[in-house]
Amino acid sequence: MKTQTGTFGKLLTYSLLCSLFLGVVNSVMAQTVKADGPTKATRGPSDTFTGTVWVTSLVANDSTYTTVAGSVVFEPGARSYWHSHPAGQLLLVTDGVGYHQLKGGPKQVIRKGDVVKCPPNVTHWHGASPGSSMTHLYILPNTEKGIVNWLQAVTDEEYKATR
Ligand code: MN
Repeated sequence: MKTQTGTFGKLLTYSLLCSLFLGVVNSVMAQTVKADGPTKATRGPSDTFTGTVWVTSLVANDSTYTTVAGSVVFEPGARSYWHSHPAGQLLLVTDGVGYHQLKGGPKQVIRKGDVVKCPPNVTHWHGASPGSSMTHLYILPNTEKGIVNWLQAVTDEEYKATR
């Protein structure tokens, strides 16, 4: 009897103890996995976006993380108005080809995989190119400083400019 439980029994006991240990560690280390979103995509308002834009909120603001995040789909030709963020913004391009421009700087092509850092209080816009939609995630940190200050529309001339 004793010999039959030998190696296999020890392995079984060992693996049970391991899973018990990992289970305890896991429950102690558990992070808050709570979906703030995704919310249903809502149409970007026509007083802050030109063309068809879909905004999906993924992380709602709260006092601990003071961060909001989400995803925006710009259909071809669509773009934001000029605007700035009091604490800056990170853009992570997840699909398509689009543009990003800081006021006074060149219009830059952005593609899937690109990461854009918009510095605090610097006026800029972002959007799709004429021939492709563009999707980016946005992360807005330090929301206690504010989230966004909207300005005027990006004109067709500005949109089409090569610089
Ligand atoms: Mn922005």
